[in-house]
Amino acid sequence: MNLKAILKTATITELSAGLKNKNFSSVELTTAYLERAKALNDKTNAFITIDEEFALKSAEKADELINKGKQKPLTGIPLSVKDNICTENIKTTCASKMLEDFTPFYDATAITRLKKQGAVIIGKTNMDEFAMGSSSGTSYFGGVKNPYDLTRVSGGSSGGSAAAVSASMCVAALGSDTGGSVRQPAAFCGITGLKPTYGAVSRYGLIAFASSFDQIGTMAKTAEDCGILLNAIAVKDEFDATCHTAPFKNCLKDMEKGVEKLKIGLPKEFFGDDISGDVKSAVFNAAKTFEKMGAEIVEVSLPDLKYAVAAYYLISSAEAASNLSRYDGIKYGHRSKTGKSYEDIIKNSRSEGFGDEVKRRIMLGNYALSSGYYEAYYNRAVKIRQKLKAELDDIFKACDFILTPTAPTTAYKIGSFDKNPVKMYSADICTVTANIAGLPAISTTCGYDKKGLPIGMSLMGKAFSEATLIRAASTFEKVFERREAQL
Ligand code: GLN
Repeated sequence: MNLKAILKTATITELSAGLKNKNFSSVELTTAYLERAKALNDKTNAFITIDEEFALKSAEKADELINKGKQKPLTGIPLSVKDNICTENIKTTCASKMLEDFTPFYDATAITRLKKQGAVIIGKTNMDEFAMGSSSGTSYFGGVKNPYDLTRVSGGSSGGSAAAVSASMCVAALGSDTGGSVRQPAAFCGITGLKPTYGAVSRYGLIAFASSFDQIGTMAKTAEDCGILLNAIAVKDEFDATCHTAPFKNCLKDMEKGVEKLKIGLPKEFFGDDISGDVKSAVFNAAKTFEKMGAEIVEVSLPDLKYAVAAYYLISSAEAASNLSRYDGIKYGHRSKTGKSYEDIIKNSRSEGFGDEVKRRIMLGNYALSSGYYEAYYNRAVKIRQKLKAELDDIFKACDFILTPTAPTTAYKIGSFDKNPVKMYSADICTVTANIAGLPAISTTCGYDKKGLPIGMSLMGKAFSEATLIRAASTFEKVFERREAQL
């Protein structure tokens, strides 16, 4: 069996069947992925750590389970994990000098769940430092490159996970999504990315950026694979008080039902002048395809979308300033070798350990929270958040989900926004609302621009409507011709 050829298009479902039929073992499969991951990492910089030894040991265990007839959907399946999700005995750096030497002594709950099924984790993926960014260019370990065009960004902040899946260095991956970090890189790298409802997946062991937005999400080449991963990790967890008591049992039910009679909203505010022509027409074409398959398209409106990016950056930076205050070089993180007093050590450690973008967020967050400015900034942002939630509640009375672009453009050249971070922030316009309102959203490829770069569309629905979103995205994927990255 030529595993090398299979990897380029393989899905979890297919690999799982191959393992079951003994076409190959998990050790063989993992070895093949490891070889590809190592060979392509120089080009893509998708991984910060590739842990061969651990991966092969896990694969051996998985083969034993399979031989005993105890195979689960993820048994023996090679996956990768974003480097802000804690993995026992494997370095978890958040792509920051601050945590360069941090090796957790425990697993995030999502990882425990993957291991319980006998999944194989081959490594930890690159990202924007502390998940702050939209390009994966703020990593302390250098930026990630897009497998469709190595001169372009992979998107961010889960750009390493997206590039790893897109370049078939693993079959699927975990990312995290605070303002779009699973969906936007999925769109840029031509794969599928699912951000679950807030509280569907435990945040225990996910290194905090903005706690009221953060969610672990799943990334793969198909919506169905994203669902297989979500089924594995979405459980009640006593270690995270915001984790829902009864997340869905199976987000892959009724998959054969298609999209007939579903009402799909097109919110006009998502198709403004800031969205490129290629992206708009690809998403409109997708809407037509859904219509042909029996769905009904309705126009809806989200009038306050224009405030979403500002509200998101204010609240998320405020939460980040608080969350990141723990890195003092004393209890946590990089410790400076200079400075005599306690205060100096803290100051120097933080100055050396954090990169520019992280410092910018901490300053913005502390400013927005400081007395005299709190009412004008933080409080108003929280009011916008409530208003957007209410507007979305109304929209979902009229339709099952909304269809929007995932990002205003396709992947841009590396370094394009280096001098203009606010311009990069404004490009998060299509994704932040799902996080502001805690709603689920899935991005899948719906076209390619003239340069052959993937275009993503997003489906966003009411809380815990993942099954509908996955089913609709998957129905579209069955009639859409996806093109693999040629790496
Ligand atoms: N691009 C957004 C930001 O920089 C989202 C990041 C994320 O989802 N982690 O904050």
